[in-house]
Amino acid sequence: MDPKVPEIIEDLKFYLEYLKGMGVESLLFPLPSKSTLKEVRTELGDCRRCKLHRTRKTLVFGEGNEKAILMLVGEGPGYEEDVQGRPFVGKAGQLLTKILQSIHLEREEVYIANIIKCRPPQNRNPESDEISACHPFLLRQIQVIQPKIICALGTFAAQSLLQTGEKISALRGKIFDLHGIRVIPTYHPAFLLRNPERKKEVWEDMKRIAAWLKEFADPVYSVGKCNR
Ligand code: URA
Repeated sequence: MDPKVPEIIEDLKFYLEYLKGMGVESLLFPLPSKSTLKEVRTELGDCRRCKLHRTRKTLVFGEGNEKAILMLVGEGPGYEEDVQGRPFVGKAGQLLTKILQSIHLEREEVYIANIIKCRPPQNRNPESDEISACHPFLLRQIQVIQPKIICALGTFAAQSLLQTGEKISALRGKIFDLHGIRVIPTYHPAFLLRNPERKKEVWEDMKRIAAWLKEFADPVYSVGKCNR
């Protein structure tokens, strides 16, 4: 063994302790995961890790392409999603499907998930204990999929992925890095249904995503960078 290894391990331990002290509870390593989504789903099981299991009808794990370049993360299931067990299938979901189609993407090409997997009663906002209970599973999904881009839909998705308290209006328009994944926060489709005048900002974000997808698909770019 290289004599430097114990020293490196000590430094790493120190750094992890430091991160823990700063409130970091989990790390997403940019390493390909050997797990599959099926395994993550099995581990989640008939989840009772938070109080939402008492009122949910169906746990909504997420769906789409396990090798998606683009992953979309919303807030949590609503009425329709709870009934069908699928993400974004209600009114907001129909708008999301149209938004994706506006950049020539079908739902099957991307992966769609939420920060919480069970519907809060009366569609209230997710609470911090619920988000924390689900967070490791969302991170596992991200680790399996290894998307190049995550589009965070709305305040809760953006705040929870980026571990910030900033409002979506402050986060939107900026690009973040999550262990090598580009995170682009945008407005939630349900917000757009109430505020259609904000659609143009989402359109700007979608055009940005479309340009990145083109960049990732470019064979010149893909050499040694995104070889999927
Ligand atoms: N809103 C969300 O955030 N997620 C869904 O799955 C449906 C509506």
